[in-house]
Order: sequence, then C-alpha cells, then structure tokens
Amino acid sequence: MYRVLLYYQYVPIEDPEAFAADHKQLCQELELKGRILIAHEGINGTVSGTVEQTNRYIDHIQADERFTDMVFKVDEAEGHAFAKLKVRPRKELVTLRLEDDINPLEVTGDYLEPKAFLKAMKEDNTVILDARNTYEHELGHFKGAIRPEVETFRELPQWIQDHRSELEGKKILTYCTGGIRCEKFSGFLKQEGFDDVGQLHGGIVSYGKDPDVQGENWDGQCFVFDDRLRVPVNKVNPLVVGRDLFTGEPCERHVSCGNPECNKKILMSEETEHAYLRACSDHCRTHPRNRYVSENGLTAEDVQKRLNALLQNV
Ligand SMILES: [Zn+2]
Repeated sequence: MYRVLLYYQYVPIEDPEAFAADHKQLCQELELKGRILIAHEGINGTVSGTVEQTNRYIDHIQADERFTDMVFKVDEAEGHAFAKLKVRPRKELVTLRLEDDINPLEVTGDYLEPKAFLKAMKEDNTVILDARNTYEHELGHFKGAIRPEVETFRELPQWIQDHRSELEGKKILTYCTGGIRCEKFSGFLKQEGFDDVGQLHGGIVSYGKDPDVQGENWDGQCFVFDDRLRVPVNKVNPLVVGRDLFTGEPCERHVSCGNPECNKKILMSEETEHAYLRACSDHCRTHPRNRYVSENGLTAEDVQKRLNALLQNV
C-alpha cells in the first residue's frame, strides 16, 4: 500500500540551499520519491512512499515548529507516483514574476472550504477563475470557470489588466490543484483592488475528497504533476470535457508533443498519437528530433507514409 502526499506552506525559510540538502537526505533515508521545492518563502512538495514511510515523513515535518500546521492531502496509490526524488532550492515556489512579489502571509483571498466554495459558485454575480495552465484546464475544470488565455502563470497579471471591466464589482473565486498558486493569485487580485476574492482552500484535490461536496460541479478530471497524470474529482455529476486535439472525440489522455523543443501537453488517443506522430503541428511532426519517430524506430520512408495518410484523410 502506497500513498501520495501533496503539501505546501508559505513560511520564511532562511537558507533554502542548506534546508534542501538536509531535506533530501531525510527523504532518501525514508526512501520517498517525488518533487520538492524549497524557497525563502516556503516549501511545496509531492512525494510518494509506503504508508509507513509517508507517516514518518509527516511526523518529521510537523515536529518542526515552522510546519506544525502543515496540511497534507493524502491519496492512496498502487505504487510510487514518481521515478525519482528531486529536492530543489528555488527563487519562488510559484512563478508570478510580478514587479513586487506577493507575500500570501500579508495579502491573500478569503479561504473558502469546499462547501462554501460550492455555494458561492452557484450564486449570481460570481466569476470563477482557473489559476492553472491551459492543458490542465482542458482536462477538467469547474462548471462555468474562465480560463485566462495565457500560456503560463506569469502572464496572468497582464490578462487581469485586459479584463478588468468584466471582473469589477463581482465576487471572484479562484482555484488551483492544491491551493498554492491561488494564495498568490488571489493576493494579487486583492492588491489590484478587487475586494471580494475567495480561494478554494486545499485546492481541487481537497474538494474532490470532501464528503459534503463530493466533487460536485467539477467537469472532467484533475491534472496532477506526477506519474498518475490525472485524478478523479466528481462523484455527483461527472462529465468528460477533454477532447482529442485532432479528432475532437472525448479524451482524457495527455501526451507531451514529440518535438523536444515544443513539449506541449496535448490530449490525444493512442490511435491519434500513432497517426499524428505524437505531435501538435506539422512543424513538430517533421522535426528532426521527434521522439515518437526515434522511440518507434521509424525510417524516413515510414514517416512519409504516415504524413501521406494524414493528407488523404483531410
Ligand atoms: Zn509541438
């Protein structure tokens, strides 16, 4: 029996480099795998291990007075959710790239528990903003949520500027996977002068586990940044919203574009992956280092055959 832990805490950490080195040793001793980021502003991690290993990890962390309040979201799993262990010092836990960074300990949106969040979502005059990336939104999102048309989190401030008139006077709700991105995103919105800003406490992952809401009004699945790729959320009124990039058929299978310089996460079925050489565009399909081509040992002639077949299907 394995578990996956998802957690974060914004709290000052004086020497992230030294902390990361010590923390890595601890995780190695506990035989955990996963990805942990350490910054001056706090810690953010997802780790997997056996029940015993993860319990020891939780005890160890909560014994540190900085992290006594740390909330761990726990998922049962068949095995490890990562191939490796990475513990890295970073400048920021999440990248907003604002001129003045947001300190969520000073300014952040109101924390809404799942039940309150669901109620607020159903009210008129509410705008729901998805603080995640496009590919995450495509796989699943709250009913009626708006996904700012941005490629990365750091473009959000500009989007807010451009859409100010649609947001003014509204109750704004923000959400993300585990809650960490919203701490800053909602803080940013408050700093921008929006008064009524709420954030989903514990994120989508907690929302899906909450016995009162059971994931209600979440469409699709939730993208997660580990080998599982996605987790279910809605037990009340589930729906598939993911669509195959090329066929438009319902699809919840993410692959990374075969062009290593592109690497875009795209939804496609196995069949589409073979037909389109696991690529998002013609450019990526014919890229000399396309990984689908090399992994499958395709010759130039094989590639040409697939490209011809695509042309005939159009
Ligand atoms: Zn591509």
